[in-house]
Amino acid sequence: MNKEHARPGRPRPDIAALSAYVPGRSADEVRRRYGVDEVVKLASNENPVGPSPRAVAAATAALAAGNRYPDGSSAALRARLAAVYRLATANVIVGNGSDEIILLLALAYLRPGETAVMAAPPYAIHRSAVAIAGGVVAGVALTDHVHDLDAMADSVREGTKLVFVTNPHNPTGTHLDRDALRRFAARIPAHTLLVVDEAYHDYVDDAVRHTARDLLDDYPNVVTLRTFSKAHGLAGLRAGYALAHEDVMDILDRIRPPFDLNIAAQAAALAALDDEAHVRHVARENRAGRARLMAIARRQGLATVPSETNFVLMHVADSAALAEALMARGVIVRPGENLGMPGWIRVSVGTNDDLDRFEAAIDGALKVSRE
Ligand code: PLP
Repeated sequence: MNKEHARPGRPRPDIAALSAYVPGRSADEVRRRYGVDEVVKLASNENPVGPSPRAVAAATAALAAGNRYPDGSSAALRARLAAVYRLATANVIVGNGSDEIILLLALAYLRPGETAVMAAPPYAIHRSAVAIAGGVVAGVALTDHVHDLDAMADSVREGTKLVFVTNPHNPTGTHLDRDALRRFAARIPAHTLLVVDEAYHDYVDDAVRHTARDLLDDYPNVVTLRTFSKAHGLAGLRAGYALAHEDVMDILDRIRPPFDLNIAAQAAALAALDDEAHVRHVARENRAGRARLMAIARRQGLATVPSETNFVLMHVADSAALAEALMARGVIVRPGENLGMPGWIRVSVGTNDDLDRFEAAIDGALKVSRE
């Protein structure tokens, strides 16, 4: 091919300047690269228990109708979610994972050059969605790993169209108090959408758990984001949703790809909603796993951040080197370099066997690094 003509098309310069999302290393890649037989992945905050058997059965049964397009409005799933949250179907938006809804929100509400306020570091997709839309990120530093809501409200300007809050936060795992979030919502102007991403909601301890859904009655500009990827264990099927004013739904519907939730995802999500016992079981297992991760860190003398999620941040001397040493021992964790938190590793809760592997691997890796 003639080199002069090798570059196909001319992308938008701001898009060409973006870097692609760096996912956690896959187990296969680590197996090949380090020659280890068994690899444990604790890097992507996945659910180690798995989906509800009812969701698996429903998705499997749905495959037989794979020759047909799915219901483009996901009517049954949205109606079921509306009933759960005491809302109308028009208040429920579904997406190919909540990541898709985040992107649609950015595309629909930000004009190039307009601002989205979020924590620094943020959940990475909040930042990348804003960049894709041509918007500007106004990052507000966390205070002690927690959103600084006062500073975030102070940074909202006329041109601020979106504010993202992640509760509990990823990558830190910290959780916001109910009253603090309500006071914050009261400070956000009506022309700005306040998006509260509650991906880890089901992992929050009962005593402190609350949802931004309850703010919607008083503040129509509040959007609550949820996902089936975490406690429901459907990350691979891609289903998320938002609870919002019907005008938001109406707007996102205009730019949404028409069949974004495939039939298996719709069926699995619907069935997963009916298996509350499974979600409770997952949350219980997660609490035990999280406590174990904290204990492992304590024994190694590593500081941690109190977490209400399915992962724990651990403070280590050289996070890139430690993540590498853990991979060589067959355990994949997320180095803080990828998350805007160098000096930390983010470790997802795994099964007991996974955590046995992690415990042995970190013990070995730290012994070598301390020699
Ligand atoms: N929001 C937060 C804060 C997350 O951490 C994640 C996934 O890790 C998501 C959203 C993505 O969810 P989904 O799989 O529904 O796109």
